[in-house]
Amino acid sequence: MRVRFAPSPTGHLHVGNARTALFNWLLARGQGGTFVLRLEDTDEVRSTVTSADGILEDLRWLGLDWDEGPDKGGAFGPYRQTERLDHYRGYAARLMADGHAYHCFCSPADLEAQREVALREGRTPQYAGTCRALDPAASRARVEAGEPAAIRFRVPARDAVTFTDLVRGPITTDIGMIGDFVLIRQNGLPAYNFAVVVDDVEMRISLVVRGEDHVPNTPRQCLLYEALGVAPPQFAHLSLVLGPDHAPLSKRHGASSVGEFRARGILPEALVNYLALLGWSPGQGEELVPVEELARRFRVQDVTRSAGVFDPDKLAWMNRHYVKAAEPSRIAALLVPHLRAAGVIGEPAPGKSDLDAFLLACVPLIAGTVDQLADAPERLRPVFETPRPAATVEHLAAEGAEAARAGREVVVAFAQELSGRPRLTRETFREAAQQVRQRTGQKGRALFHPIRLALTGADSGPELDLLVPAIEAGAQVQAGAGLAPVVGCRERAAICAAALLGA
Ligand code: GLU
Repeated sequence: MRVRFAPSPTGHLHVGNARTALFNWLLARGQGGTFVLRLEDTDEVRSTVTSADGILEDLRWLGLDWDEGPDKGGAFGPYRQTERLDHYRGYAARLMADGHAYHCFCSPADLEAQREVALREGRTPQYAGTCRALDPAASRARVEAGEPAAIRFRVPARDAVTFTDLVRGPITTDIGMIGDFVLIRQNGLPAYNFAVVVDDVEMRISLVVRGEDHVPNTPRQCLLYEALGVAPPQFAHLSLVLGPDHAPLSKRHGASSVGEFRARGILPEALVNYLALLGWSPGQGEELVPVEELARRFRVQDVTRSAGVFDPDKLAWMNRHYVKAAEPSRIAALLVPHLRAAGVIGEPAPGKSDLDAFLLACVPLIAGTVDQLADAPERLRPVFETPRPAATVEHLAAEGAEAARAGREVVVAFAQELSGRPRLTRETFREAAQQVRQRTGQKGRALFHPIRLALTGADSGPELDLLVPAIEAGAQVQAGAGLAPVVGCRERAAICAAALLGA
């Protein structure tokens, strides 16, 4: 099996196209096939190198590696259409020699005028056939004399063209709907329908999996295969990816490109797993399925015809799962750009950049709780924000005189307990709390709520077991390492105890 992904480098990689790439990749990897990457860059105005580089980068990030492509070559290259112009010219010459194509001298202005008339009269615009019957020898002479000419396909005289789509079943198109279409434009560049057929033939593609926006092109492509005397590949057209309002997923819905999800801190394995389930199911009600297993089970015949509706909540759920399952040091490193963006990590002084222990201590606070790593700074706010003691005093007072008295006793005992201790770990925090319990006789909420207030100034927040080690790791970061200052637990407790005793 040889499959391909053939993006036009005219923008960012949309998640719908990423899903197309993924389905091709799953087929190749699951069935011992070859995955070809081809850049369809013949749109002179809209194609950019930046876009092409970005698409390759996004595919690599997703882990969708290719066997043949513009950067690595292969037996059927080149894999960038603008480097294949001689191939298209050769095939066009062959089609002309066989009478399947002809030179067309109609000017763009004439063609546009014909189009407008058709639209005004309520007809589908179609080439009128003006140059269809010109004498080939006379046409050749005009071209040699320098007259600009396009090359058009001569659509055969018959009723219909049919192909069987692996997802959508047989699709028949009335040939009357298809006018003689352009193969090579006046500027010498191939039209999409022609280039794609020449490339799929030459690259020995056996199955074309692409978006349903290409269904109307396929009958034309089938006619070209026929004229070239080559059996067409199999076709499978995937439904569009829609937003929750059932309009095609776009910027309006928030993130719609792979790069945006990446920037938000969605892990590639989460996006891959999520996209695989848009319009396909691995079966047995399973949803969290590793990519190798997805490849093993994927069959294009099982893809649904109905549109895939993008569900951000489900992606968030999957991402929470994969962040939790990931190696903590990987998540620690991925946190850096987000903490930088939030302004809590800045430039380190030379030789003082070691934030590893701190970042690692933050991971348990993040893993399984944030939807995307971009939400980490908000989750880590209690680490960086030193509580105002007045807030704690107020919170305790609001609980009534007796609770306030007991709470004050807990905070004071906690401050005393910490004053003689080194920075806390998860274990020594538990020990310290145990000591406070013994000294004050308070337990459960009566014990931990005042401690939470002393450390964060808030009624609720992350589990103290996880928060305390992160605060302590932050307090131990060397000055100059670029981290916003973090006040340690000992100091927080002492400030709060002093305020309560003074209140
Ligand atoms: N270049 C086309 C696109 O980006 C895909 C062509 C194809 O898969 O046949 O939509």
